[in-house]
Amino acid sequence: QAKKDGKNRLEFYDNNFDGTSYKRLDLEKNMRDATSNACKEFEVYYQPIFDVGKEGNQCTGAEALVRWNSEKLGFISPGEFIPLAEYLGLINPIGQYVLEQACYNCKYWNDMGHPDYKVNVNLSVVQLLQNDIVDVVSDVVKKVGINPQNLTLEVTESLAINDMSRMKNILGEIRKLGIRIALDDFGTGYSSLNHIKEIPLDVIKVDQSFVNDIESDEYAHSFVKLVSELASVIGVKVCIEGVEHAGQYQILKDMKVRLIQGYYFSKPLPLEEFEIKYL
Ligand code: C2E
Ligand code: MG
Ligand code: MG
Ligand code: MG
Repeated sequence: QAKKDGKNRLEFYDNNFDGTSYKRLDLEKNMRDATSNACKEFEVYYQPIFDVGKEGNQCTGAEALVRWNSEKLGFISPGEFIPLAEYLGLINPIGQYVLEQACYNCKYWNDMGHPDYKVNVNLSVVQLLQNDIVDVVSDVVKKVGINPQNLTLEVTESLAINDMSRMKNILGEIRKLGIRIALDDFGTGYSSLNHIKEIPLDVIKVDQSFVNDIESDEYAHSFVKLVSELASVIGVKVCIEGVEHAGQYQILKDMKVRLIQGYYFSKPLPLEEFEIKYL
């Protein structure tokens, strides 16, 4: 009862309470409700990715980024709710919803005169280690009828080394379906240059912290250059995300980086806006 009354909320805030604070319980309850209500409060935004090696910098498609507009709590960013969704096991239904939306939308773009547009969908490690993940992904691709080559799943390297062989197997299975794999946020976490060779990969997305510093920090500059060169040797594409300024863009062009994503071109957009601008 007390929970229903906003005025009583303060009673539940307690610094020693961390994991079970009222705020977290509130978030949890609302997330469970939103998930069981067909994920209607979740919306997929699209941030275009550009090939800057082509005349006029061509849009190649987009990364799908989930947004939660909670009726009760307002707008909550993925950085805030994805970790909790992973913890609660709710990432699977939310992730599947995002995957389906992204595939449906990309299929539409493909049918509307952009047969090469691709969509990237983030997959958390929790989803990836779900027993039937290969079937889940394969079923969505078949149901929607999207060309699997136009779907890229973005994964991070947040796995401990002893899970590596399992992860490699799963990614290998997914790739056999024709779906592409991108390594997200490369250069952070459990990163190892060796993973680039060992994990079945199509694209490396360099973490945005490197591009942030690329104009001022020689290490960041060299890192991006090194990864680009290494990637071209083993036939993997590189995408630099978080590009915000013309100076950064120019440096990357000079390095012959092809794929760029960031506010310099566009923020993530609601579907309608993406379609108005890029279809
Ligand atoms: P990410 O996959 O690395 O996505 C890139 C993030 O950088 C996005 O934040 C995007 O809005 C932001 N970004 C893009 N360009 C720029 C730029 O130029 N400057 C700056 N400062 N930021 C830029 P967002 O949408 O808040 O998502 C945060 C993270 O949440 C994502 O990082 C991803 O790890 C996770 N996430 C988002 N959607 C999903 C989803 O559907 N499923 C899963 N499992 N995770 C998701
Ligand atoms: Mg991503
Ligand atoms: Mg990233
Ligand atoms: Mg990230």
